[in-house]
Amino acid sequence: MDLKINNSIANPTGGSEDNEEFVRVLVIGSGPAGLSAALYAARADLDPIVLTGMELGGQVSLTFAVENYPGFPEGIGGMEMVDLFQKQAQRFGARMEYDLASEVDFSERPFKVKTQNGKSYLAESVIISTGASAVHLNVPGEEEFTGRGVSYCATCDGWFFKEKDVIVVGGGDSAVEESLFLTRYADNVTIVHRRDELRAGAILSDRANDNPKIDFSWNTIVKEISGNGAVQTVKLQDTQTGEEREREVDGVFIFIGHSPNTSLFTDQLEMDENRYLIVDKLMQTNIPGVYAAGEVADPHFRQVITSAGMGAAAAIQANRFMEENPLPEKSPS
Ligand code: NAP
Repeated sequence: MDLKINNSIANPTGGSEDNEEFVRVLVIGSGPAGLSAALYAARADLDPIVLTGMELGGQVSLTFAVENYPGFPEGIGGMEMVDLFQKQAQRFGARMEYDLASEVDFSERPFKVKTQNGKSYLAESVIISTGASAVHLNVPGEEEFTGRGVSYCATCDGWFFKEKDVIVVGGGDSAVEESLFLTRYADNVTIVHRRDELRAGAILSDRANDNPKIDFSWNTIVKEISGNGAVQTVKLQDTQTGEEREREVDGVFIFIGHSPNTSLFTDQLEMDENRYLIVDKLMQTNIPGVYAAGEVADPHFRQVITSAGMGAAAAIQANRFMEENPLPEKSPS
């Protein structure tokens, strides 16, 4: 699409108001995609600013250990990895702002982004990496034991449950796919589902039914997770009889859906039916100059390495786009 260019505010040295700042690349979100985008943009001398959001590092910062990112043969803690990503981007000039984008206007370039702390950015290009959030059960113990037996990522944490007994909550494709993955490690995987049939497709469901390590607790919900330093017990309830029972487990994996963090972009950027941002193979959204990377635009892979790759690609493309579509200098007033 053709995009309007606002000549009056295209000013590489600063915005027109005190709290307004011009930036060449504004990265919204600080997970692996955002920090990789910032690294690449910084190395291209684009002086990127990263609005970190509420949680620096996004979902990976909640992961106990990342053991599938190349270069770390012994694995690395999620928070430590985020810290290294951040330091590397900062080394080349990326600036972190511990602030949250609260309003965006992508109708003309430079794009306008307002923040919770009252700043306004005029951005020549924007890279959105706001991630996705796992939907939580919101039961007692869930938050307390996240990273200590409660997990939202079998690929990340499955290895820690070798020869253990785990439950998987949910009945969709994610729950079944992740359950199948967990059988590589765990001795027993019980899928706890609130209905009496899976939502997952036939192929995955058949595989789960055929897997001797997987069994099912139908019509069952988790009421509470408890333990002593790590998960030990879950309280389950039969949805038909109301009967409650306790069960000893080592791990609780929750896959009741992911929700991309895209509400800020409603009516401005194209999204799929699950509200993931739609990007082309160059990471561009429907607005030229606005890119998206990582889970906010990726319902399929959801790995640190794929998100980091998308972030790098978005920054490379933003650089090319700005070279090919320079903003006019502000005319003297
Ligand atoms: P989903 O299809 O929305 O399934 C979520 C599951 O969690 C449902 O079974 C749902 O129960 C259950 N659930 C939701 N809220 C719950 C709650 N509060 N307490 C207990 N259970 C709850 O999500 P998904 O499995 O993450 O899949 C998302 C999309 O990605 C789907 O379109 C899926 O097909 C796709 N996907 C595809 C693949 C693949 O093809 N290999 C793999 C993963 C995901 P109900 O069934 O009762 O609603």
